Amino acid sequence: MKDLLYKAAAGINRVRGSRGSINLLMYHEVLPAARAIEAWTVVREEEFAKQVKFLKEHFTVIALDDALSLHASGNPLREDFMVVTFDDGYAGNYEVVFPIVQAYQFPVTVYVATRGCQGNGNYWFNDVIESLQAPKEYRVDLSAFTGKQYRVSRHAKGECKWDHIQGLLQDLKKLPRADLEPAVESLLAQADAPPERVLRHLTPAQVKEMSRSPLVTIGAHTHCHSLLPSLSRDQIGATVSQCRELLENWTSAAVEHFAYPNGDYDNEAIEVIQGLGFRSCVTTKAKPWTNEPVFEIPRTGVGRYDSVSKLAYQLYSH
Ligand SMILES: [Zn+2]
Repeated sequence: MKDLLYKAAAGINRVRGSRGSINLLMYHEVLPAARAIEAWTVVREEEFAKQVKFLKEHFTVIALDDALSLHASGNPLREDFMVVTFDDGYAGNYEVVFPIVQAYQFPVTVYVATRGCQGNGNYWFNDVIESLQAPKEYRVDLSAFTGKQYRVSRHAKGECKWDHIQGLLQDLKKLPRADLEPAVESLLAQADAPPERVLRHLTPAQVKEMSRSPLVTIGAHTHCHSLLPSLSRDQIGATVSQCRELLENWTSAAVEHFAYPNGDYDNEAIEVIQGLGFRSCVTTKAKPWTNEPVFEIPRTGVGRYDSVSKLAYQLYSH
């Protein structure tokens, strides 16, 4: 089945290859199965290794800077190019991904949200994900905030369990900023305290070590992982600048690329980030990069439930 799929993908690739394409993928965390949890953002190491093999077979994997040069040149593309990126800055990017990157010699970009690296707690969405992991029934009443009560069945497993958690996260992301923290606190009080954190962040030393590799580009992802459209112009400037300043201190290198948290942005965010001198911004619009400007580069997300076959379908169905 797998071989058939590779052949099918390769066949389409040849047709597409006549004009070529630039594609970007967005991952988050990669962990060994024994240490992983049920979350779209946590890809299993074994699955990631398969996907790397697939990507190396069917694409020319290039660094973000090379993709920007290719796009800017306006020259016809004669190959299918791929840029591999990671969002948030999780510890597995260093512990699991970095050795694979070195072994297979392919470039990656890691967009780091810096607050987590400083050990100042987890981001709220990861607190929510980790507090609903046990194989038991959860009932969470958030009617004071979202107007809803939620139930995560003890029978829900795998992607089904994630669907429940994701529904909750999506409702929380829609709340006004002032309501988010009390809503999450209420949820956490009704769910479980995670026994041991699975989603840990890169340390500044790990960011520094990875940045020394010619295969790794470090990009910014705000300090607090705030959704930019919910912030004022000054707040956008502050969280993006703080992130870049910390990353530049840790790596002693210029940080010129940015990923919008949650893929959320508006014209004000573009203006502020462009004004700060960044050279590119990536979104979560899932398609190959064609005519989009450099501050709105599309990326296809890859997660825990996206097998090689689903990945092939996503990449070749445009
Ligand atoms: Zn993020």
